[in-house]
Amino acid sequence: MKMDQKATATLLELAAKCLLSNEPSAIHALEELPRDLFVPLFIAAFLGRHMKVLKEMVKVWPFHCLHIGTLNTEETCYEILEAMIDGLQILPAQNSSTWGPKLRILDLRQDPDCETTCSEVTTTLPFCFQSCVYSQQSILKIEEAQQNVSCLKIINSESEPHSAWEPVELLVDLFISDTLRTKQFISFLQSKVEQNFGTLHLCCRGLKIDTISADKSILQFLDLGCIDHLEMDQADLSEITSFLAQMIHLNSLSLSDIPFKSCKGINFRTFLIWLGKLKNLQEFSLFSVCLKNQLHKLLRVLPPELDTLYLPYCGLSNRDITALSQSSQATHLMLLNLSDNQIFSEVYEPFQILLEKVSGTLKLLELNNCLMTDSVLSAVLPALSHCSHLRVFSFASNPISMPMLTSLLQHLTSLMELKHVIYPVPIHCYEHWDFQGRLDQQKLAEVQAQLKVMLKTAQREDMKWTTSPQ
Ligand SMILES: [Zn+2]
Ligand SMILES: [Zn+2]
Repeated sequence: MKMDQKATATLLELAAKCLLSNEPSAIHALEELPRDLFVPLFIAAFLGRHMKVLKEMVKVWPFHCLHIGTLNTEETCYEILEAMIDGLQILPAQNSSTWGPKLRILDLRQDPDCETTCSEVTTTLPFCFQSCVYSQQSILKIEEAQQNVSCLKIINSESEPHSAWEPVELLVDLFISDTLRTKQFISFLQSKVEQNFGTLHLCCRGLKIDTISADKSILQFLDLGCIDHLEMDQADLSEITSFLAQMIHLNSLSLSDIPFKSCKGINFRTFLIWLGKLKNLQEFSLFSVCLKNQLHKLLRVLPPELDTLYLPYCGLSNRDITALSQSSQATHLMLLNLSDNQIFSEVYEPFQILLEKVSGTLKLLELNNCLMTDSVLSAVLPALSHCSHLRVFSFASNPISMPMLTSLLQHLTSLMELKHVIYPVPIHCYEHWDFQGRLDQQKLAEVQAQLKVMLKTAQREDMKWTTSPQ
């Protein structure tokens, strides 16, 4: 009888755990370890926080790349990352052709779409899906340059080796803040880069800066062109603009709490110019940034194919929603968050038009705390029912009645991809509609029970209805 793959995997896991119960013998065994056992042993050592074993495994890793990938550390564990970086070796070029350590790309980012190694994809050329394609210090660019040099040398009949060391890439996501541990990790990285200057490319892909407190000296060690995700908090708009000018390959930009006074005049115009140069941008998020009657200016420069737009607490007006409904982005958006904006205080038509436009692509819609009433919701319900790809709809903290909620449920059960609805506690459960009054838990329990029965009757128990995001 053939042993299935799952049973084999479990056996490997058991063998790895058993081996790790004695660290010195596990390290000793690495010399003889078959190639196929490296990945399961690495996963077990990572999850079990066996730092010494991890460091030695990185030293003798027999594949081109090593990714943390799906392994979840829950909280950032700098000890593990440092142990792995410590194991990273810069090897003489001659070493690469035969057997022995082959690691060239160490990827310490958590990435749900990434396998531990890409090496098995192709048997001829070492290949990694995550290798850097932008920096002049990347393996790709260095090897290109070396090849050009060696071509020249062949022409000139010289035969000395073209380079002493194999270039290596270290991929990280960085959070720059003023906590002691973060600072230690950053200076550890800096010294590693300095020791291996010209051979080790520190490739930062995700950068989060706590602007108020951060010591930004690390940035001079980074090629800012490699960064694809940037998150900044409480930064002045002119400072953000100076970063954007260098981070031209950004995929995702997230800014929060930008001081109001910095969002005007020449500052704002320069920001728009650089924002318009981010041709790869797919996700754009502003949180608590005053945009009232200005959204059209942003939409004019943002790429039309933008798929994610988050604008909570941005003081959006009806004019802004009209601009959004007329924008080229409206027919592409997949994730839209307009929470905490009073966009329904006067008229709902602009939003209704917007919803019709996005209905072909929208997967997530958030409208929490938008002062949305029964009459608004019933008016936009037909457009909402057309959003056939919708997976998550969140509209908590809006003054909605129970009859409206049940009518909504009946409409939404036809959306087969919709799996999670976060709904407001209906107004009759409060002493006052403004959510300030006491919440009657008994009434809320009755609401929950009634919705549950309705979902069962509609055979949509796969759809989760909750009053909070969990
Ligand atoms: Zn790879
Ligand atoms: Zn890079």
